[in-house]
Amino acid sequence: MVVIVRSAGAAGTAGAAGAAPDSGDVFDVIIIGAGPAGLSAGLNLVRARRRVLMLDSNRPRHSATLMSHGFLTRDGVSPLELRRLGREEFESYPEASFHQALVSSIDRVAVPPVGEGAASAGQYAPHVESLFVVHSTGIRGSADRVATARTVLIATGLLETLPALPSIRAYYGTSLHSCTECDGYEKSDAPLALIGESPDLAERALLLSQWSNDLIVFTNGVAELSTHDEAALGARGIGVERRRIADIEGDREGMTGVSLDDGTVVLRSGGFIRPIYTTALDYHGMLGLETSADKLLVVDAHGRTSCTGVFAAGDSTPPGAQQLIVAAGEGARVAAAINRHLIGLL
Ligand SMILES: Cc1cc2nc3c(=O)[nH]c(=O)nc-3n(C[C@H](O)[C@H](O)[C@H](O)COP(=O)(O)OP(=O)(O)OC[C@H]3O[C@@H](n4cnc5c(N)ncnc54)[C@H](O)[C@@H]3O)c2cc1C
Repeated sequence: MVVIVRSAGAAGTAGAAGAAPDSGDVFDVIIIGAGPAGLSAGLNLVRARRRVLMLDSNRPRHSATLMSHGFLTRDGVSPLELRRLGREEFESYPEASFHQALVSSIDRVAVPPVGEGAASAGQYAPHVESLFVVHSTGIRGSADRVATARTVLIATGLLETLPALPSIRAYYGTSLHSCTECDGYEKSDAPLALIGESPDLAERALLLSQWSNDLIVFTNGVAELSTHDEAALGARGIGVERRRIADIEGDREGMTGVSLDDGTVVLRSGGFIRPIYTTALDYHGMLGLETSADKLLVVDAHGRTSCTGVFAAGDSTPPGAQQLIVAAGEGARVAAAINRHLIGLL
């Protein structure tokens, strides 16, 4: 008999409650998230002859942008094209399965002792004591699914909240960006705005000055920027605007400025936003996974979380938001660790 060990708060299975479990099928790995971290891990795992199910809700964080930069051999590629290529490579292997669904919970299930139940422990690997049952809700017409695996890789990335300005979304990904390494080059020497409400704006402004010195930091009347920081920025010619922002101004060509509550419009042709990041899953509710102060999944150098058999890679792990190629590299590294874990070497 299989024993369900639900973690505290893991009752969020309602979305997939009606779904019948996959009949007796146990995957080597279930990967949650088909961004660069998940896809890269998936490719490496199927090439290690691991049976992999990838579950993805099709909400990539960078869908707002038309071109992504800095990925070796793919500089300037559309992010959707990069995902399409990655998924095509993954699915070209017979060991690969892909299902479009939103994961709502993971339960840990004790492997039945040898002789009890249909399967022997040896079927799962001698040292594997738990299996993981992943509940997901189908999206865009795909079915709900409950699937079981010997390991789980969480590669769900981050969700981001932009400052609450009426038109900000219209310019995000074209005139306004969040990743300086990704989009700074295209903004070289342009009159830029840095908009944010978090305490790290001064550091971000110094970084951004590598690409343009015509820079104004907008705190929206919220971000705490010390007079010491303001003086340090001033010494580099970076301005600080502390008044509240009314909206982003622009036309069909793109952003033209930042309008303030008092009617002033500060001319800017583009810039960078500091979003507030949140995670895509309730990790505490799932198996009580350990998270950092900023709620990212704590992992060791192999991508192991605090729950044996559950791994994580990409933006959902510290230090958080990075780049496509970094997430893909992490996915490959963690895939090797999962394979070693399944053999009993890790
Ligand atoms: C506007 C913008 C532009 C960017 N431009 C660049 C660039 O030019 N170059 C660059 O290198 N980087 C860029 N980035 C950063 C880059 O997109 C991320 O660093 C990278 O995508 C992180 O990869 P990931 O696999 O960790 O997560 P993501 O790519 O975010 O993928 C996570 C996946 O998990 C899925 N998911 C989440 N929750 C669930 C769930 N509960 N169940 C099932 N699936 C789930 C999501 O649908 C998504 O497909 C940009 C980011 C943004 C926001």
